[in-house]
Amino acid sequence: MLAPFSARLLAWFDNHGRKDLPWQHDITPYHVWLSEIMLQQTQVSTVIDYYTRFISTYSDITALADADLDEVLALWTGLGYYARARNLHKAAQIMRDQYHSEMPDTLDALIALPGIGRSTAGAIMALAYQQPYPILDGNVKRVLARYAAIADWPGHKIVEQQLWQLAEDLLPTTRNGHYIQAQMDLGATICKRSKPLCQHCPLQEDCKAFQAGDWQNYPGAKPKKSIPTRQTHWLVARSHNGSILLEQRAHKGIWGGLWSFPEFDNASELTTFSQQNLEAEIKNIEVQTTIRHVFTHFKLDILPYLVHSSVYGQQIDHNMTFCWYTINDALRLGLPAPVKAFLKLLE
Ligand code: SF4
Repeated sequence: MLAPFSARLLAWFDNHGRKDLPWQHDITPYHVWLSEIMLQQTQVSTVIDYYTRFISTYSDITALADADLDEVLALWTGLGYYARARNLHKAAQIMRDQYHSEMPDTLDALIALPGIGRSTAGAIMALAYQQPYPILDGNVKRVLARYAAIADWPGHKIVEQQLWQLAEDLLPTTRNGHYIQAQMDLGATICKRSKPLCQHCPLQEDCKAFQAGDWQNYPGAKPKKSIPTRQTHWLVARSHNGSILLEQRAHKGIWGGLWSFPEFDNASELTTFSQQNLEAEIKNIEVQTTIRHVFTHFKLDILPYLVHSSVYGQQIDHNMTFCWYTINDALRLGLPAPVKAFLKLLE
């Protein structure tokens, strides 16, 4: 008789699962939370260095809560999806103030914290507290959709509910942490998005997609929608001593709280600002090649304007959202990836 799904997965994990990742060395709720947030939409190989730096800078919840958000964002630069860093910081402050700097140990209290959804809360409950809760990240969705041949797109509410129900039904009664790790590992190393290694999979005997030979149909694809293109104009102002003018963005939305080149909707607003604040002459404004940055829901065409400014160091607004930085100092700030890349070009 075929062993249950969870037993086969656990036996596979004992031989092939990942057990030496940095966040598996000293498993604490804080370490699990941090790694799970970093791993959202991001590969393990990318996360390892960021995680190690983060933990050595902020060793516990209090250290993170007391940190300056700008420093947290600077440490996050390059990892993308910056709302994750802002939410980590906000959640750490809530835990410092309301939970004596400990992570809560119930699913509902975890979900109430900023940036923690049901799947991340389930992972913390299972990996850190050994409680029987399912997860449903991208890897697990793919494995379950193939295993049970659920062909619709998991973004549809009804399909998502079906997958949650299946994930819950398959839970084991013991080794909850290992089981969750096994699911994630199987999705990442065996049941891969393309070319899954079904011949090495412990689930192949009753996996419906394998039996039908059509794994590529699962999970169902997101209905296609063309993504719009937006345009923005960067003011790359350089003073006579090589410093660069940067502006800190509002603490919300894409790149919230990061430092960026001042942005304008059109060239004429940019020119007026440069003339009024930087005493720049039109002949000193050079348009550079357009940079395209692609987000999940839109494309951004950036037109950088290199402006040679004869003034330097003067305060442009009262809130100090505009500051002059040397390129070296600027590269230590929290920066969107294309800003960082452009600064390196200027360097
Ligand atoms: Fe994925 Fe293949 Fe395993 Fe099915 S048998 S779960 S398709 S790796």
